Amino acid sequence: MSSSRARVIVMNSALGPLDYRVPHGMDVAPGSIVIAPLGPRQLLGVAWEAERLPTEEVGDNRLRNLLGVADAPPIPANLRRLIEWTADYYLAPMASVLRMALASTSALEGAKLAIEYRATGHVPDRLTPQRTQALERIGDRQGIIRELATIADVSDAVVRGLVKAGALEGVEVDIDHPYPLPDPDFGAPDLSADQQAVAATACNAVDARAFQPFLLDGVTGSGKTEVYFEAVAAAIAAGRQTLVLLPEIALTEPFLKRFHARFGCEPVAWHSDLRQSQRRRAWRAIATGQALVTVGARSALFLPYPNLGLIVVDEAHETSFKQEEGVHYHARDVAVMRGKFEACPVILATATPAIETRQQVALGRYAELKLPGRYGVAQMPAIEAIDLLREPPDRGRWIAPRLIKAIDETLERGEQVLLFLNRRGYAPLTLCRTCGHRFQCPNCTAWMVEHRLIRRLACHHCGHVIPTPRACPECGEEESLVACGPGVERIADEAMALWPNAKVAVVTSDTIWSPAKAAEFVHRMEAREIDIVVGTQLVTKGYHFPNLTLVGVIDADLGLAGGDLRAAERTFQQIMQVAGRAGRGEKPGHVYIQTHEPTAPVMEALVSGDAESFYAAETEARRDSDTPPFGRFAAIVVSSEDKDAALDTARALGRAAPRIDGMEVFGPAPAPLAMLRGRHRFRLLVHAKRAFDVQDAIRAWLGGVDWSAKVRVVVDVDPYNF
Ligand code: ADP
Ligand code: ZN
Repeated sequence: MSSSRARVIVMNSALGPLDYRVPHGMDVAPGSIVIAPLGPRQLLGVAWEAERLPTEEVGDNRLRNLLGVADAPPIPANLRRLIEWTADYYLAPMASVLRMALASTSALEGAKLAIEYRATGHVPDRLTPQRTQALERIGDRQGIIRELATIADVSDAVVRGLVKAGALEGVEVDIDHPYPLPDPDFGAPDLSADQQAVAATACNAVDARAFQPFLLDGVTGSGKTEVYFEAVAAAIAAGRQTLVLLPEIALTEPFLKRFHARFGCEPVAWHSDLRQSQRRRAWRAIATGQALVTVGARSALFLPYPNLGLIVVDEAHETSFKQEEGVHYHARDVAVMRGKFEACPVILATATPAIETRQQVALGRYAELKLPGRYGVAQMPAIEAIDLLREPPDRGRWIAPRLIKAIDETLERGEQVLLFLNRRGYAPLTLCRTCGHRFQCPNCTAWMVEHRLIRRLACHHCGHVIPTPRACPECGEEESLVACGPGVERIADEAMALWPNAKVAVVTSDTIWSPAKAAEFVHRMEAREIDIVVGTQLVTKGYHFPNLTLVGVIDADLGLAGGDLRAAERTFQQIMQVAGRAGRGEKPGHVYIQTHEPTAPVMEALVSGDAESFYAAETEARRDSDTPPFGRFAAIVVSSEDKDAALDTARALGRAAPRIDGMEVFGPAPAPLAMLRGRHRFRLLVHAKRAFDVQDAIRAWLGGVDWSAKVRVVVDVDPYNF
């Protein structure tokens, strides 16, 4: 970069790099976060190596002055390389990727003070049940009123009352105060011989400071977390940063607790539920290198760690690592690339690796770390199938007699039960028995799902909600609407009817929508305030409840419908994961899977426990059909509120499709969700050989077609859900 000019990526996804003049005395280097004028506005931007971003040269006399440099650490070179790679591979604007690194414009603000509250130990004279609950749950935590109210599950007014009564006091905190440093030796466990061998390999890789991807493959409860914690300890001891990615923000809270027990303090959490001040503090601590361990959802992947020594992707098989809006990227794959640019190891931990990941091991690109059995006395649960044709539930019921009997016995022993059904709400479809009217979302190709607890019908795609009507809007008949099929709320109703003395809890993203809610759920499970959990995929991950001994899968066939490429693999993973919640302590676990297809290969593999032959057959099928990881796909989705405009553009793209060896283009056809949030959607599907440069071909192809401003064209490289 010449001393007087800077090439800048400004935070506007529609623009390419822009050149600016650097005023005398302003210090701008590649990576500097700058404030740039654009028309009448001021935008954040990041200065970049000019030679890496060729663009048309603008004469010196037409340059505008940069307005300033942010009081924040620069975006490090390794991250700049990752941002370039991500934009290039996923065909996304650089500014869109960079926005994830900057995360918040508040990086610009100076040091700040906030008032938080903590318990004084004084017991107020008037002690209502709500006040007691609040004081118990707040314990020695500190936070602003809103936070404490959420933790305690009381209103803000209750917390304010406690402040007035002297039970809580306000303290001034500098929100830039440093995070405590984790102690690598704090709660170090005695590892088993298997665990020790695996941990030593991982620790050596951290010390080697070289790129090395690992698949850490061990059954649920084998101690994968304990083992990767050893690698984290090695990074802490070396003064280097660690990033742990979790698939779901609900898992943050149990992770924080576990981390605290191992390292004596909490790591830095990064997720969408942070307050602005927390986000700002975390960002600065990460960017300055002060935060040694960060745990977060996939958005933590692009933060500016200056000194990364280890990346862990926990539950690495999870499809929620695939981002489906904005920049369409797969956090697992980008994590490996980040490790490459940072020259550090990357540990993908999972009991049910994706076929893509297993293939990388087979090719020798990833090293495999294996933990063969559960830790200690815990055994793998026994899995049985219930053939729903031979042993159907009673009319109008969904739980088969054999499962009912097992639940009876489990509850009698005082143990806990998990019923799994991956469907939120009460019923997926509501129809009128008189005229046949079905409730469909006005914005999407989807049925409205009944949520009985809140007496609403809701679209799970766009969030459209209406009160559940009494009468059919079509024929006017009263008492004529019927719920078709089960959702978790309906199973919970059935459980409450069958076991009126049992305490039943529904666990879905509707009830557990924040780390605090997840913490409350864990607390209630541990205190045995819950006997039966009815939950969606949200409960299949990560939780460790030693008293939970029985798992019932209500409809194991649910994920097999629809003809998705990964349907069998996902069904296998999901049921293995939910089964993995059973019998994690000293008491043995038992799993029943209700299915109409007990002879399907995936069901037989689950019952026999023969994962290897299932994976082998699946892998061969993928090889034969040239599908991932052997072939590759890219989806091009054309959408518009104007159906004709979308279809015209999709057809024009179809006509202009490149005819080259090694790549086929299918479509356009209506996308799997033909209408979404009021937009009509058509899709072209690109299928190519693994080694084929689809990005280059697609860039050239899209560059040769024009479309109107009404139309949006989105490319999804390595798509899911098709
Ligand atoms: P995974 O991540 O493979 O599911 P975890 O690391 O959660 O397994 O281990 C399962 C349970 O066993 C946890 O409660 C964990 O604390 C315990 N555990 C595993 N290894 C050890 C060990 N070496 N010493 C003590 N407890 C262990
Ligand atoms: Zn909708």
